[in-house]
Amino acid sequence: MSTILNVTDLTKKFGRLTAVNALSFSINKGNVYGILGPNGSGKSTTLGMILNVVNPTSGTFSWFDGTQNTHQALKRVGAIIERPNFYPYMTAAQNLRLVCRIKEVPQSKIEEKLELVDLLDRKNDKFKTYSLGMKQRLAIASALLNDPEILILDEPTNGLDPQGIAQVRGIIKKIAAQGTTILLASHLLDEVEKVCSHVLVLQKGTRIYFGEVTALTTDLGYFEINATDVTALQNILDKHKDIEKIEIHESYILAYPNKTISATDLSKSLSEQGIIITHFAQKHKTLEEQFLSLTKNQQL
Ligand code: ADP
Ligand code: MG
Repeated sequence: MSTILNVTDLTKKFGRLTAVNALSFSINKGNVYGILGPNGSGKSTTLGMILNVVNPTSGTFSWFDGTQNTHQALKRVGAIIERPNFYPYMTAAQNLRLVCRIKEVPQSKIEEKLELVDLLDRKNDKFKTYSLGMKQRLAIASALLNDPEILILDEPTNGLDPQGIAQVRGIIKKIAAQGTTILLASHLLDEVEKVCSHVLVLQKGTRIYFGEVTALTTDLGYFEINATDVTALQNILDKHKDIEKIEIHESYILAYPNKTISATDLSKSLSEQGIIITHFAQKHKTLEEQFLSLTKNQQL
């Protein structure tokens, strides 16, 4: 798999504040990456550094195979890190023609990209008549004019209504399906869960998770169990080879497995040891719960 970006120990300090702290990650071709974290966690600063608009305090990053300088490499990158800004009295098509001239790409790309973002039928409308969602989609079309290998978006659905959010997410998926690598920053868990294949979770500038979204969502789960004899249940679970730890709650015991174990196998093994089960449920943590427990562990 070819590498698009390699980031090593990237750090940014603003005075005494460390906005990004020794961050390392890499981006491979064809995946959709999310940088997830609450406001102020360093997402935009990270994007700013890799796009050469924020000077790193220390650390390095290298684009593609590292043979080109950053200026050259960034010609192969499409990015929207600010609010879309076009000439209000010009039409969408006129605005994009201007971008084509600046980026030195053929005007023939305009229709193709407007079609991709569902704006072809509105191409002759003035930018100032566009809704926020349409403006964002036009910005995406503009960033794609030079057929970049990676598209970078900072909070692409911020401020949009639910319909606008769904449209922008749909377009991001469409672009990814065509093979363009995507890196987007978002503070929204459900956005990352819906759109991304990989996620970098940031807390106060520090990486607390980097990997596949599915690895974060498909945890081992846990079991909620109660029995007529709670003490006996507790003793057996404590010694059970497949159970990592238990938590005693008022009306049930939570049992966390140390490997994948089916509800049938666990309940059967309890019954075989004389436990009369009165309640048994297998639960999974949502990405939100996982995210919260990740961030909670970090604070300890
Ligand atoms: P995010 O995009 O995750 O919301 P940012 O990268 O914008 O976070 O900010 C990370 C931290 O760095 C925040 O505490 C923010 O206030 C601070 N910060 C960002 N840019 C500057 C700047 N130009 N000067 C001083 N502090 C900044
Ligand atoms: Mg930001």
